[in-house]
Amino acid sequence: MSAMMTDNKAGYRVDPENLSELSSDLHDLLDTCVENMKSTREDLWNPPNNKELAESFSLSASADACDTKDVYDKLRSIMPYGTNQKHPRWWGWVNGGGNFTAVGAELVAATINTNMGGRNQGCVEVERAVIEFLVNLAGMDAQKAFGVLTTGTSQATVLAMAAARAKKFGIDVKKKGIRALPEISVYVKDGAHVCVAKAIELLGHGSDSMRTFTSFDHLTQLVAEDKANGIVPMAIVGTAGCVNRGTYDDLQSIGKFCQQEDIWFHVDGAFGYWILLAEKKWSSLISGIERANSVALDFHKWIGVPYAVGACLINDRELHYKTFSNRPSYLAPSTGTVPGSDGLAGGDLWFCDYGIDLSRPFSALKCWTTLKAVGTRKLGEVVTDNCRQAARMATIIKNLNKSGNNSITVACDVVSNVCCMFLRDADPRDIAAKLQVAKIVVFSTTLVNGKECLRAALVNHRTTDADIDYAMEELQKLLPKQ
Ligand SMILES: *Cc1c(COP(=O)(O)O)cnc(C)c1O
Repeated sequence: MSAMMTDNKAGYRVDPENLSELSSDLHDLLDTCVENMKSTREDLWNPPNNKELAESFSLSASADACDTKDVYDKLRSIMPYGTNQKHPRWWGWVNGGGNFTAVGAELVAATINTNMGGRNQGCVEVERAVIEFLVNLAGMDAQKAFGVLTTGTSQATVLAMAAARAKKFGIDVKKKGIRALPEISVYVKDGAHVCVAKAIELLGHGSDSMRTFTSFDHLTQLVAEDKANGIVPMAIVGTAGCVNRGTYDDLQSIGKFCQQEDIWFHVDGAFGYWILLAEKKWSSLISGIERANSVALDFHKWIGVPYAVGACLINDRELHYKTFSNRPSYLAPSTGTVPGSDGLAGGDLWFCDYGIDLSRPFSALKCWTTLKAVGTRKLGEVVTDNCRQAARMATIIKNLNKSGNNSITVACDVVSNVCCMFLRDADPRDIAAKLQVAKIVVFSTTLVNGKECLRAALVNHRTTDADIDYAMEELQKLLPKQ
């Protein structure tokens, strides 16, 4: 940097003056992070003292600079107060355990600070590679299908439903909105995630447009009824990995039916998509995903990419592009004539043309790093392990039952990585909270057949069989003696 550029008072107010000091502070912070990684097993969730934290982190409208070292100490102080789902016995809801190699990707992404919304840059090749990987793994038509990374499955579902609508009613719907449209229906099986209803609400159709089916026959019946009443069936959602029970809808039958009836076939594979990497016994559950018009999935759940990143895949790149591309004057493409490059406004892949965010993080880097550093083989083993471990939980319960202890019973068949259990003479929410506060295990609760149950969703690559056995023993200790 030339002296002329720094003599001026303005400029360089924000970057630290002493970069070797920054380097040393960053290295110290990195050491703290590695220590934190080492102790994944030592600390489950910590009940927060929100008042104290609120005071400690309050911001003022007129503040002078703080020493970086002190600020980094504050960062250290907040580290114990997340959900701490890195822990091997964190099985509530569906929460990924992160992974440590991807921390390097976050560091690089924040350092280079590229905006992945658009412009002529090499970094798009990383996102392109990730999308192509996902399309190929799903078995979609690699010539036609494409996609975009999102903040998660919820956002991906909004994009997918917008594309479904553009397909059904033409791209003109972008201009005309829903005023001119007939009533539509979107079909989900019972137990489908609420993100589908949210997407339909957001797109202006109202959640009354949702139809819930209980079986394939019921689905065909609902579609026939709607058609007879002049309601347009817009999309059918197949759930691949149901949040409550870990079940998979019959994607083959639904996919074929959608094709026959010219209805958009969307697959919610938030965590369940990754069963594609598991042993055949489990990967066959998702057979038919290749028929999907769109797939929504998460990187931050089962394969542990740090939050928050998911993807939307659409089997028709042109339609996908047309649904979202809209470049006003300030985003006009380059007409440069410089040999070799048309400048920053050039480039033929702008991801803002495939979704709603214009400014986008370089999330592709942590996805790519995870896939590359861990490798898909090992990730597949994790998925298989978790499915086996859910089955192990069910076996432990069944063995208890055989020996005459019925304090816990299996609430529904274990199909993949989710095990739900009914507790006799105990409130599952109370037991879940007691186990969390005692730092033993994190279960969550849900309803199965209208009855409250304890639920474990195993998506953690650190979980061992011994963790399953330990948690089940500790759970029994809290239940009334039989
Ligand atoms: C988590 C989940 C979602 C929502 O995904 P986000 O990434 O949290 O937006 C949707 N569907 C299923 C089946 C899920 O498990």
